[in-house]
Amino acid sequence: MVHCYVHIPFCRERCSYCDFFLVTRRELQPRFFTALREETAARRAELAGKSVRSIHFGGGTPSLVEPRFLADWLHQLDRLAHVSGDAEITLEANPEDLSDRRLSELAAIGVNRLSIGIQSFCSRKLQALGRAHDGMTARQVVRHARKMFSNISIDLICGAEHESPGEWEGDLAAACSFDLPHVSVYMLTVEPGTMLARDLRNRRREVPGQDEQAAFYLMAADRLSASGFEHYEVSNFGRKGFFSRYNMGCWQREPYLGFGPSAHSLITRGTHEVRRANARSLTGYLRTPSESVEFIEELTEEAVISERVFLSLRLQAGLRLDELRSLHTVFPEHLLEEFRRRGWVEVRSSGELRLTSRGYLFADFIAQELLPG
Ligand code: SF4
Repeated sequence: MVHCYVHIPFCRERCSYCDFFLVTRRELQPRFFTALREETAARRAELAGKSVRSIHFGGGTPSLVEPRFLADWLHQLDRLAHVSGDAEITLEANPEDLSDRRLSELAAIGVNRLSIGIQSFCSRKLQALGRAHDGMTARQVVRHARKMFSNISIDLICGAEHESPGEWEGDLAAACSFDLPHVSVYMLTVEPGTMLARDLRNRRREVPGQDEQAAFYLMAADRLSASGFEHYEVSNFGRKGFFSRYNMGCWQREPYLGFGPSAHSLITRGTHEVRRANARSLTGYLRTPSESVEFIEELTEEAVISERVFLSLRLQAGLRLDELRSLHTVFPEHLLEEFRRRGWVEVRSSGELRLTSRGYLFADFIAQELLPG
């Protein structure tokens, strides 16, 4: 069994806060898909005999490319592996690309889950984020997509310039009004090297501080939980049966293969686990698709344990406390007690340690503290 990811590195423009690997030279699409097919063919041994449980087209903006390119790659994948009949096939999409025609084309090639970068239903906020769509388009697109796809997720961002609690509450109310099965919530993060980071440094812009961001996040957790969503991962809220299969696979450390520049893979070789990262270079990828690799490394036992603890604590399911204790010669009970006292963690009667919504704000810190030194 395996999950597959394809990184489609094209966007119309780079959003001011984004540091993903992407280019705006859309004329390179045909060459990119030739390279993608070449990489996939070169990695046929990793696919042979595998059943593909989920496929995720991420980016970049996969909705920007011609669906026929995606269809060709899906056929190739099905020849090299077995794509299960009920495989979840997700495509990340931006609202401005989702005409009714494009929605039908995507459904026709087998896409059965859309992850739409709505970000907000408020035009002022969308403008502050530098997005190409407005609030009315956001609403229309969700309404239309809902008619054609039962499995839809939307992304929302909190913490945009001058965002007020009222504005955020409006976004959450709008999201809940569509009876969607899945919502992802992200706090605006200032990544080094982005336009946003530069504007903040030059005091050309201001965004809400950490405390306000945390308050927005907790508002989302309350509002979405009250509407029947399960807060199943730090940034993800889903109804039963609609958790992202691809993401859950990665978080639970099931094998996944990433294709395209900057894509990561987790490959099992016998009893070993190998991580592969493709290079963040489209030029290199177009030249030698299967050799454009940043690293391939066998994971040490410590690395596997660390990944498992970090990832499990980000999930609602949590991690068995006895398993965590068994990693230590002397377990730091006082830290666990302190985290409990602060309302960051809880231990279920079934024995799992899990973070609360407040604890998710400190997920990496808590995991780091509870790992053996
Ligand atoms: S559309 Fe998405 S991937 Fe593209 S630049 Fe904006 S945030 Fe980044």
